[in-house]
Amino acid sequence: MDRFLHKKHLRTVQAKKHIQDNPKRHQLKKYADATLGSGNLRAAVALPEGEDLNEWIAVNTVDFFNQINMLYGTVTEFCTEDECPTMSAGPKYEYHWADGGKFKKPTRMPAPQYIDLLMSWIQDQLDNEAVFPSKIGVPFPKNFMQTAKMIIRRLFRVYAHIYYSHFERILSLGEQAHLNTSFKHFTYFVQEFNLIDKKELSPMQYLIDGFEKDTQAK
Ligand code: ZN
Repeated sequence: MDRFLHKKHLRTVQAKKHIQDNPKRHQLKKYADATLGSGNLRAAVALPEGEDLNEWIAVNTVDFFNQINMLYGTVTEFCTEDECPTMSAGPKYEYHWADGGKFKKPTRMPAPQYIDLLMSWIQDQLDNEAVFPSKIGVPFPKNFMQTAKMIIRRLFRVYAHIYYSHFERILSLGEQAHLNTSFKHFTYFVQEFNLIDKKELSPMQYLIDGFEKDTQAK
């Protein structure tokens, strides 16, 4: 657990280079935060006029990574091999890890191990300048959107696991509003840019449908 916390800390710090050391992204992040503050999440996810789509996806991806890192951090001591022997999102969905490296074939494993591998894999992508450039003027690789989609799809699974396996804990910590806002923001972002196939979203469809009703009611 200490090792995990240590890595978690490093992750957040390193992810900051994408935003704080890049004035353009810093400005986009400030814009995103300000629009979010207005309470209109649909408007907050839309590409600001005249901005580059890849930059916008990059800023938000780093931000969601940090948010999930923090949210999962609040339940990490309860997400153990005993409590969560598989990486699941309810009884019908179980995720198996594959990364083309050590895990060539999808491998069943406890949730904490899966999430640790998942977050480390994302950190590696964010730290790789050839995959996820942080500096101004460095062009995005052609497959940037594919990489971003894969990151976003994997982050979704962490939300789903938190909701299904640790929501009681989230409630007792009083973190539910924080989690719900973060996930709603994430869902709107995914929908705006069509980042995850509908099928993949099905474990959380009940909640996503609820967001739709919210919007229609307004
Ligand atoms: Zn768990």
